[in-house]
Amino acid sequence: MAYATIDPATNAEVRTFPSLSDEEADRAVERAHATFLQWRELSVSDRAGKVKRAGELMLERKDEFARIVTLEMGKRFVEAQAEVDLSAAILRYYGDNAASFLRQENIDVKNGDAEVLYQPLGVILGVEPWNFPLYQVVRLAAPNLALGNTILIKHASNCPQNALLLAQLFVDAGVPEGAYTNVFIDSKQIRRVIENPLVRGASLTGSEQAGASVGEIAGRNLKKVVLELGGSDPFIVLDAGNIERTIRNAAMGRLANTGQSCIAAKRFIVVDDVYDAFLDGLRAAFAKLKPGDPMDPQTTLGPLSSERAAVELVGQVEEAVGKGASVVVGGGRVNRPGAFVEATILTDVTPEMNVYREELFGPVAVVYKVADDDAAVALANDSPYGLGGAVFCSDAARARKVAERIESGMVWINSPTGSSPELPFGGVKRSGFGRELSSHAITEFANMKLIRTLPAGKGPAAKVVG
Ligand code: NAP
Repeated sequence: MAYATIDPATNAEVRTFPSLSDEEADRAVERAHATFLQWRELSVSDRAGKVKRAGELMLERKDEFARIVTLEMGKRFVEAQAEVDLSAAILRYYGDNAASFLRQENIDVKNGDAEVLYQPLGVILGVEPWNFPLYQVVRLAAPNLALGNTILIKHASNCPQNALLLAQLFVDAGVPEGAYTNVFIDSKQIRRVIENPLVRGASLTGSEQAGASVGEIAGRNLKKVVLELGGSDPFIVLDAGNIERTIRNAAMGRLANTGQSCIAAKRFIVVDDVYDAFLDGLRAAFAKLKPGDPMDPQTTLGPLSSERAAVELVGQVEEAVGKGASVVVGGGRVNRPGAFVEATILTDVTPEMNVYREELFGPVAVVYKVADDDAAVALANDSPYGLGGAVFCSDAARARKVAERIESGMVWINSPTGSSPELPFGGVKRSGFGRELSSHAITEFANMKLIRTLPAGKGPAAKVVG
């Protein structure tokens, strides 16, 4: 797909952008490498200062960024503003903390010294999705620029203006040309870039299919890869304590970003005696949503990111209904132009239906009834994915026990899965591997280098071998 801004609230094409030729992509890699040789010579604090400055500038330009997010992928403007705040917080976090995260470690040894240094690897390619067009990019760029790597970003083809705004942001923050480069390339050129010996690693946030492809190319070329992929997070309700608050959290967890979040609550697993009250409450919350222009503050349900996404989501619902699933509310398209889908609840979903294991990337919730905690855990883990998860219960010890048994990278108790700069983010199973955010992300693409020094004349006695 060529790079184009298509407003999902109307499906009108606004602007298109030319892609790079193979030669231009090669030159971008070479420039990123040449910049790396200089960039790595700066102190961590110098680099981190520029990352922090990017965060300050992003906040100054908050509405400009948020408007482009809304235009290109349909997120409600208030949510786009929140995405700018979170992205700026991530830039500030690495700006403030990179130097302490990358401090050398000294290991206790008997004779001499042993130190571990964290050094950058070189040029890293980031392949990014449209659902959080600022936040996803910043999660990779902030720690890696501070570490001393240089970054090439291949953004989603429906977010070209977001891509250009971000590239300008880093230039304005004083990051040298070639340290952060936007590249309008296609999937074939992703292979070409990863195969280039100057590229030292790749990170993809997106679907399983795209992740498998990038992982395979990186593997064949023996390069480090981080994959942040899809999820079908369980939201487990164990008791009736604070049920109204739990229902509000469930609606928020499913519907934020019009349901297009990897960590959205997608499967609601509710114990028997709370099920009816929970389902009634969730139905009422979904039924009162007001679809409309995502720029209008009165709108509570925006469009999906594209017409194709809307058609696919309704297709998934129809497949399940055709095999016996029940529609509690919604179930189809909203009767207005644009990529709108009704907020939908399905019950009676069985393993024969695709939605039992597939990710539903939009405002569609599946609600299941289970007998007890063991059954809740078994159903939660019967998924190819393992990204996040949530457990709601007024008994903290019981919730904690269940949380420990869920096969996922993150579990939140009494809150939908969330994200914050200091918390490690990532999954297991088909949700990928590696971590973003927190102190852990900054060493994903680092050379953890050992320097072992023995006092002169006190090393092992030289032996002639053979
Ligand atoms: P996507 O179709 O996989 O696209 C993501 C990126 O990968 C885009 O830049 C896309 O480029 C590129 N791409 C697509 N096919 C590719 C291929 N065969 N080889 C290499 N690159 C390829 O995913 P999406 O629809 O944008 O995003 C939704 C998915 O991302 C969901 O599954 C969601 O759960 C997941 N996600 C995961 C996380 C996480 O942190 N775990 C966060 C956000 C989203 P084009 O745009 O040019 O096709």
